[in-house]
Amino acid sequence: MTTPPTQSPLEIPGFTHVYSGKVRDLYEPDGRDDQLLLVASDRISAFDFILDPPIPDKGAVLTQLSLWWFEQLADLVPNHVVSTDVPEVVAGRAVLVRKLDMVPVECVARAYLTGGGLREYAADGTVSGLSLPSGLRDGDRFDEVLFTPSTKAPMGEHDEPMSYGAVEAEVGPELAATLRNLTTRILGRGNEIAGKRGILIADTKVEFGLDPAGALVLADEVLTPDSSRFWPADQWEPGHTQPSFDKEFVREWLLSPESGWSKASGEAPPALPAEVVERTRAKYVEAYERLTGKTF
Ligand code: ATP
Ligand code: MG
Repeated sequence: MTTPPTQSPLEIPGFTHVYSGKVRDLYEPDGRDDQLLLVASDRISAFDFILDPPIPDKGAVLTQLSLWWFEQLADLVPNHVVSTDVPEVVAGRAVLVRKLDMVPVECVARAYLTGGGLREYAADGTVSGLSLPSGLRDGDRFDEVLFTPSTKAPMGEHDEPMSYGAVEAEVGPELAATLRNLTTRILGRGNEIAGKRGILIADTKVEFGLDPAGALVLADEVLTPDSSRFWPADQWEPGHTQPSFDKEFVREWLLSPESGWSKASGEAPPALPAEVVERTRAKYVEAYERLTGKTF
């Protein structure tokens, strides 16, 4: 079970809190129902638990990096951003967005074999139902980017892999094809840009929504260390787990004997030690700085 967010949402004058996910808090501007204030908190989740304590500056890093990527992708797909002029209490970590009718599919693209894709491949020789050649190793690059969608599970439940046929059944064949095309192109463009900065993006998850006119819009966050696996290109070596700039570091600590936690127990993980918090913050900031070339 997912634990509810530990901090109660902020009071933001002129806005009403409407929803909290594992990481973001959503507010509606008073008097209009076509926009949302999307506030990224410093909460970090792993294995569907919200961990304690938060990672300082994480919300700002995610927000600024998403904004940067939305611009890099603007010719591929319209995005939900309306304005970054937000109340002072959430400055830097919030955006005013168009409220969309969210497509009920987590759109995942994979350029390299690892994580859930590797687990399926090890069991069945497939990734998202697609047969792949034998002998691929953890970290191998696919010949082409794969679309491996999953369900968008309600709070407290795990996202489950979804076949392409299930996506077609859910949203219709035309929208399914568009989701696949855009998701794989977003990761492709992401890798073109990140590659020049020494980062490989192994996989990523994006979310889309429909605007009132029925147009498809990129929403939520994009190509961040929360939604993607970032690997330092100079250390890429298939055959084992890759070092990364994302929360893989936290996942590994949780699974290590040091944490004293067993994933199978179903219990909430222990508090992260100060050193793990600091190193995680450093990884998020490094990902931002390397990708954007800006100082955080
Ligand atoms: P869950 O939705 O299961 O809580 P999560 O823990 O990943 O998932 P967060 O990322 O913390 O959620 O919260 C962001 C929420 O806002 C998501 O449910 C996402 O689908 C939704 N969202 C993002 N952008 C928009 C938008 N433009 N319009 C409407 N909803 C949006
Ligand atoms: Mg999310």
